[in-house]
Amino acid sequence: MSRDPVMTDSYTHDGNQHQRASREDFETLPRRVMEVLERIPGFEGNAEIIDYMTQVLGLYERGDYYEAHKYLIASLERLPAFEPYLLYYIRVCERVLAIPLTREEKQYEAKVKQYLRHSKWLRKFTKAPLLKIRCKWCGRYTDYIDPDTPTFGFDLLANSCRVCGRMYPVPSWVWDSLDGRAYSYYRMSFKEDAFYEEFERDYNPMPQCQRRLTKK
Ligand SMILES: [Zn+2]
Repeated sequence: MSRDPVMTDSYTHDGNQHQRASREDFETLPRRVMEVLERIPGFEGNAEIIDYMTQVLGLYERGDYYEAHKYLIASLERLPAFEPYLLYYIRVCERVLAIPLTREEKQYEAKVKQYLRHSKWLRKFTKAPLLKIRCKWCGRYTDYIDPDTPTFGFDLLANSCRVCGRMYPVPSWVWDSLDGRAYSYYRMSFKEDAFYEEFERDYNPMPQCQRRLTKK
């Protein structure tokens, strides 16, 4: 992945420098994730790209990795400057799509499709399939958990995949963004080393977070 932009434990916003994983970071994160894309030359006023990104966001967060991937690739083809900001979403989609579905999962998908084909009034009388989503780590269907569900630093299972146990299994546009991952990295939100290793491979952050420094 591109090493550009440079990753440190602070970032600039509205002309000021702020610490990553600070309260300010948390509060402005969703807005900054969108602003950074808007600032890429060629984005503003480009109706096609704006439409693509709007689609991608919804598809990605619904766990429709196949369709999201299509729009991500198309956006990148039209605006290559997006690369450092879209590559991680593309990787997540490709990771999940490379994992074959089990027989039960195929049956589940068929049930959901069938349900969605019903007209609205008929849906009222049909039992909705339980809401499941493919885990962005292991690719298995797991219970949907709102990506913002807090763990308070100790209730690690509150936001973990029911199958592989990894934290934050539901795809999230904000948390899977460059700045969202940087927040999680310096906040040390994950219990798994794999998250830190992948982040360091992607951005070579300087300095590394405390958890990684004390490990050495
Ligand atoms: Zn999982």
